[in-house]
Amino acid sequence: MKILTDVHTHTNVSTHAYSTLHENMVAAKNRGLELVAMTNHAPSIGDAPHIWHFMYFKALPRMIEGVKLLCGAEVNVLNESGDIDIPESVLCDLEVVIASIHPPTYKEERGGDHTKTWLNIMENEYVDILGHTGSPDYPFDIDAVVKRAKEKNKCIEINNHSFISRPQNIEICREIAMACKKYETPVVVNSDAHFMSKVGEVSLATEMLKEIDFPERLVMNLTAERFIEYISKKKNKVFKFEE
Ligand SMILES: [Zn+2]
Ligand SMILES: [Zn+2]
Repeated sequence: MKILTDVHTHTNVSTHAYSTLHENMVAAKNRGLELVAMTNHAPSIGDAPHIWHFMYFKALPRMIEGVKLLCGAEVNVLNESGDIDIPESVLCDLEVVIASIHPPTYKEERGGDHTKTWLNIMENEYVDILGHTGSPDYPFDIDAVVKRAKEKNKCIEINNHSFISRPQNIEICREIAMACKKYETPVVVNSDAHFMSKVGEVSLATEMLKEIDFPERLVMNLTAERFIEYISKKKNKVFKFEE
């Protein structure tokens, strides 16, 4: 499985990531990618850029080094009610919205059952992707969430970075992927790169998907064409990619 886009990447405006947008785009080109989404952390987490970062994407060309660029955010899930940390007035203009649980900004306790959190998050029409959901610290009813994601046309992320920095997540990631296969829920396979050399690097995730014979037709970011079609339809937006 060769994934030609990467729709979860960080640049050095998130201070624990270390490459510029341009460096990421050059790396994407060298890897043969067709499209990248820049999705930095939303403002409530310590390393995040100012909210203005998410309000001025019109400053950017959408084709850099021959690679298409979408601009979005990785928003922080704040609580079980599904609150997130970018206001709707800004959120509605973002092109890719990943909602992730990060312990410093998620107010619920570890352990227990976090099914309601994900179900509530999916009620937010602007959220497109549930990010790195496989943490054993925040268990949830995988069948219920994956089934609802299918109904709500949300993608579940298979996050390559989890295989390296969150090895405790691997077994749950596999279970989630198997549930996506069972319920025909769309997924995206992303690097979550924090450095340019990692942009488009998803080999551990695709290896796992191969092991469970995961169907390519459910991978919404397999090609730029497929992802753009998915996200344009979902957001009722037309994207122009110009230098
Ligand atoms: Zn994250
Ligand atoms: Zn991330």
